[in-house]
Amino acid sequence: MSEAITAESDDWYAAPVEDVYDAHETDGRGLSSDDAESRLEEYGPNRLPRAARTPAWRIVARQFKDPLIYVLIVAGVVSLAIGEQLDAAFITAVLAINAVIGSLQEWQAEKSTRALQELIEERATVVRDGETRDIDSDAVVPGDVVRLESGDRVPADVRLTATADLRIDEAPLTGESEPVAKDENWEATAETSLGDRRNMAYAGTSVARGRGTGVVVDTGTNTKIGQLAADVTTLEGERPPLVTRMERFTRVIGVAVLVAAALIAVLGVVVHEYDVLVMFLFAVALAVSAIPEGLPVGMTVALGVASRRMADVGVIVRQMVAVEGLGSCTMIASDKTGTLTANELTVTQIRLADGTTYDVTGEGYEPDGTVRENGEEVDVEAHDHLDRIARAAVLCNEGTLALRNDEWSWRGDPTDIALLSLGRKLGWTSAEAREEYPQVGEIPFESEQRYAATFHRADETVRLFVKGAPERVLEMCEDARPDASLTALEAEAEAMAKEGYRVLAVAERTLEERVDTEGPPDEPDELTFLGFLGLMDPLRSGAEEAVADARKAGVTVTMITGDHPETALTIARELGLAEERDDVITGAELADVSGGELQEILEDTRVFARVSPSQKLAIVEAAGDAGHYVAVTGDGVNDAPALRQANIGIAMGQMGTDVARDESELVLSDDNFVSIVDGIREGRIAYDNIRKIVYLLVSTGAAEVVLIMLAILAGLPLPLTPVQILWLNLVTNGIQDVALAFEPEENDVLDRPPRSPTERVFDRLMVERTVIGALVMGPLAFVVFVWLLGAGLPETAARNHILLLMVMFEIVNVGNARSETVSLFRLSPLASPILLTGTIIAFLVHVAAMHLEPLRSLLEAAPVSPGVWLGLAAVALAVAAAIELHKVWWSRRSQRAV
Ligand code: ADP
Ligand code: MG
Repeated sequence: MSEAITAESDDWYAAPVEDVYDAHETDGRGLSSDDAESRLEEYGPNRLPRAARTPAWRIVARQFKDPLIYVLIVAGVVSLAIGEQLDAAFITAVLAINAVIGSLQEWQAEKSTRALQELIEERATVVRDGETRDIDSDAVVPGDVVRLESGDRVPADVRLTATADLRIDEAPLTGESEPVAKDENWEATAETSLGDRRNMAYAGTSVARGRGTGVVVDTGTNTKIGQLAADVTTLEGERPPLVTRMERFTRVIGVAVLVAAALIAVLGVVVHEYDVLVMFLFAVALAVSAIPEGLPVGMTVALGVASRRMADVGVIVRQMVAVEGLGSCTMIASDKTGTLTANELTVTQIRLADGTTYDVTGEGYEPDGTVRENGEEVDVEAHDHLDRIARAAVLCNEGTLALRNDEWSWRGDPTDIALLSLGRKLGWTSAEAREEYPQVGEIPFESEQRYAATFHRADETVRLFVKGAPERVLEMCEDARPDASLTALEAEAEAMAKEGYRVLAVAERTLEERVDTEGPPDEPDELTFLGFLGLMDPLRSGAEEAVADARKAGVTVTMITGDHPETALTIARELGLAEERDDVITGAELADVSGGELQEILEDTRVFARVSPSQKLAIVEAAGDAGHYVAVTGDGVNDAPALRQANIGIAMGQMGTDVARDESELVLSDDNFVSIVDGIREGRIAYDNIRKIVYLLVSTGAAEVVLIMLAILAGLPLPLTPVQILWLNLVTNGIQDVALAFEPEENDVLDRPPRSPTERVFDRLMVERTVIGALVMGPLAFVVFVWLLGAGLPETAARNHILLLMVMFEIVNVGNARSETVSLFRLSPLASPILLTGTIIAFLVHVAAMHLEPLRSLLEAAPVSPGVWLGLAAVALAVAAAIELHKVWWSRRSQRAV
């Protein structure tokens, strides 16, 4: 083999492990923290360069790609040409301000997307200071010993030193879609191509199955994927479909209005022989009023506010799509263990093979507790059988539980940690057990196989220890005791499950020698049954209320678990999801059920137990086919297909695997079911607020259109100049629509059924509301304009009054927008401090513009008398009256419809 292997080489796969260790100044026992720290300084963090930020000029340039902007640019140029420098200056200022606000806002959105992404830190499992630890994967250094298990993403390029049924999905690197079986003993030559190096695991790939250990040879940009980096770092968040839809809507309106305005202008000039310039100004005014310029900004702010509030309640948004999606979800398909339950399992019962039953005291993982028989404490030393089951539980175990600085700390699968805690109570620690019985092989736990096994050297023999689901382990056992058949034992396990225990069976076998050291081990057989362990996993606090809240909100909650049906039933009863055994459907019962039948089963089945990952996928598909908008939780690598299939995939932040997280739109930072329901609440609030923004902007814009059209038809002068309309839409309304995005929850949003996922923002209510708003405000303003002109007011003064009237309309209309159903007069303004402040600011800004230069000249505004103030305010209130009437009428009609 190559002698000259150095830390700079990259043919690690062709060298013996010892040489790889030497080149990295390490051995198989892991680095010390100090050493790792200095290496981190030397090699730099283990991370790929982030996707470059979108360059500032590009963000700014994007702000000009809009039909409105084109209109404005033309208007500006024309204004300049005809000597209206002030107008041209204002239009330029509007263009600039619009570009600045738009850019800032996009920049902010990009920043918060990144911030959210950083909340989900990548973890890696390494051995440091002789202990297995989870660290930030950025801190992995060459020479580190890393451990890999199913669902992990490989944190760096690794030369494998031990594998157990390890299969790695290398698609991101090689494009190969089938997971590749890995083997530390695979012999490669320098010519072996990347896809065939079975003794290596590469950064960016993920573990599909099994376990592995290896030594890190390259990190960060030195990894194979790092050298291809260009392809993998683009992690741009998708744009929410609602925003895209609304942008398209704005654009369509924009183009339609431009065409219409041009037509009207041509007609005016040709037929009515209007002045060309006047008609041009009319056309620009029409275009400017009809386009809801503030809509995309308002909506993005509303979704941003919601994702921040969701993060506060434990739901991290990976894709903005999920914010509106969660609000409209109609079914949650949830895991049981860890999501609905607290996931701090404790072994509280031991039932040995001979039928003797012991209780174990203590709660949680801390190993304070004793073993009792009929209430009497038992001297464990004197009970050989207890000792054997404890030893098996500690050896066939992948977790760790240790006392560090006087505090218990743990890592791993909760089932494993619970068994370690039991072991300690019975006098066994992992370290001592492994010293006495060194591990020589394993069959790691995978949820579809439902058991785990380990092989250990014991003097001249090999001992095999197995733990897992009773029906799986018992079928590997020989008849366990003379007076009890395996079926009788199964019944005993079932009885324990009925009491709410999660039951594990434990067994062992002594072999002359381990025979199947090559390839994946055979399934164990001829085992000696040792006993059952009963684990308790209490309900999460708040879960019961959350399920009730979800039901109240019209969201169906379904529990899908790999656990035993009786155990599932106990939890489901506490949650109010099921009452009797018949309410629970098992995977076996689903075995040959068609998709259509599954849809029927889903109508009244809330609990699915002993379900395999592929059945979970089938259930999710059937729910989707039945018209549900489904949110699905998952943690393991096998959950990935179901998470992908779901409308909203929700991964676990704590127990979840990297692979599950990658397939999900949302991540629960605390794994808690309760957070999902809180998230639904936030999603619904966001959607409500978007509707409020749409109403406010579209009704005001439409009113302006009506006003201008009426003026054209009546052959009157322009009632508002383009500059004044811009002011109304971008400044006064602009402040208010952003403030609406912060509106608090209205009533109890969980008190009503979910909206249909296909429901359009412009539903009947919205169309009627905006039309009524526009048909009240537009014609009223027109009448006032006619009246003012008739009273002999000059055009400019009349426009000044109309401008003030429109500002007042906007303020009253914000009040209307606050609720679609509840009367404006029953909502305290103090309940929405941000909106109140925004409205006051918008108002004061306008008052200032009426009094102060240079805005005053620009807007052709002037102060008005108290009488005019009062008169206009009275007119403005009319829009409140009209919408109030519509609210009453609407609620009558919808009640009748019920
Ligand atoms: P869930 O998480 O839905 O409760 P799992 O798929 O994790 O279900 O587990 C299915 C079954 O596999 C459990 O009921 C238990 O019998 C067994 N099991 C779970 N964890 C382990 C483990 N670490 N080792 C051995 N068997 C296990
Ligand atoms: Mg589990």
